[in-house]
Amino acid sequence: KVRVRFAPSPTGGLHLGGVRTALFNYLFAKHHQGDFILRVEDTDQTRFVPGAEEYIMECLAWCGLNPDESPQHGGNYGPYRQSERKPSYRHFAEDLVAKGHAFYAFDTPEELNAQREQHPNFRYAHDNRMDLRNSLSLGEEETARLLKSGAPHTIRIKMPEDEVVSFEDMIRGRVSFETKLVDDKVLLKADGMPTYHLAVVVDDKAMDISHVFRGEEWLPSAPVHILLWEYLGWKEEMPEWAHLPLILKPDGNGKLSKRDGDRLGFPVYAMNWNDPKTGDLTTGFRERGFLPEAFVNMLAVLGWNDGTDQELFTLEELIAKFSVDRISKAGAKFDFEKAKWFNQEWIKRAPESELLPQVAAVLESHGIQVEQQDENFVGIVLDLVKERLTYIEDFWEQSSFFFQKPTTYDVDAVKPKWNADKTSFFTKVSDVFAQQQTWDAATLEPLFKNLIAESGMKMGELMMPFRIMLVGGKFGPDVFKIAELLGQAEVLERIKLAVP
Ligand code: GLU
Repeated sequence: KVRVRFAPSPTGGLHLGGVRTALFNYLFAKHHQGDFILRVEDTDQTRFVPGAEEYIMECLAWCGLNPDESPQHGGNYGPYRQSERKPSYRHFAEDLVAKGHAFYAFDTPEELNAQREQHPNFRYAHDNRMDLRNSLSLGEEETARLLKSGAPHTIRIKMPEDEVVSFEDMIRGRVSFETKLVDDKVLLKADGMPTYHLAVVVDDKAMDISHVFRGEEWLPSAPVHILLWEYLGWKEEMPEWAHLPLILKPDGNGKLSKRDGDRLGFPVYAMNWNDPKTGDLTTGFRERGFLPEAFVNMLAVLGWNDGTDQELFTLEELIAKFSVDRISKAGAKFDFEKAKWFNQEWIKRAPESELLPQVAAVLESHGIQVEQQDENFVGIVLDLVKERLTYIEDFWEQSSFFFQKPTTYDVDAVKPKWNADKTSFFTKVSDVFAQQQTWDAATLEPLFKNLIAESGMKMGELMMPFRIMLVGGKFGPDVFKIAELLGQAEVLERIKLAVP
């Protein structure tokens, strides 16, 4: 059975790259009727940020990527927080020492720092480990004595001096590493917590993970993980690996970072992230007015396509069409303008039941209370202006005139050419409109146009002022449709207000 995991560390808010990793895991799992697991990798207590785990769960829920197993949902392979699995790791680290693939290291942080100061390129590796304080250099007796005395120690992997580790990445194909370039990574820390390297292997095994999708930044760690699978005797059960392409800055120059978002004015977090350390609030896609459908769609095509020109996909379609073969190796450029386009398209497609409450909230934030009986009207207006919305907030800008009289008029658009003939034309219009029994766009349009023809003036000279009287500016949908929806009394009042 396909079982994949999204394994974030609760060190901050989820940014684009993190959510995309979650999404690709989810799509792969669901495409194969498998399980999508959320595992919280919180073994680095120095980088733990309160609230981050809740944020991650809320964010997945907003995107509709609901885990089958997680700290919240439980499951048969729990606990799903690594800190709660702490007792299970030491045994494996010691097993590795017994088999000669790892060693106890007694070097204190001060000693290691001194080394780093002396040798700027210091790394703990085969070429210097005999000069350092560990079970390999100190010998069995001294090691036993130190362990017995409770001397603080870590356990490090003993990287082979000169081997080639290679594996078949689902996206990149064959990837090889020379072990001589990789250092003796810490597996178990002095506080008894595993490092990421040990925990990821032990937990992927314990949770029966079949495929690992993770960011390209983890590729250099892959040889350590592969050797651990082998040394622990689990090679047959090792998952398949896929390292996802980087997300690049809009200009393609380097990896997208949080700072690019701040600098260029677009969100990089999925939802608002309120950094508890600095107190800084960073706007997220959700708060910026993105629909989750648009956000997810936009992420899915960052590094994946279905092989056709299709760009708009529902989550169901993505599940049906997702295939690892169509994930690109090359980095994917993030383009905020394109992200906005996705949102526009998804607003056009969203069902009224999803948009109405959000639109009502926008109206309410401008002091317009939407009662139940107005909902029909709001729905009609929404249909009319939907095409023009990039964000739901734009609803106000595009349609406030349906809910309140214009507060200002674009006088410059009419004033220079205003004259008495026009004033009398609109007085005439008011008289005729006041007599009207049927009030809809189809009736009003020919009526108004006939009056223009009778007046001998030009169409454009009178259509634009009419619009400005109703709307305040040179924008909005069909003016007769607007008149229809405003209703007879309101239209007459607005004409009167504008042409005293
Ligand atoms: N905890 C790692 C992270 O924060 C997970 C990497 C992995 O998926 O193996 O990205």
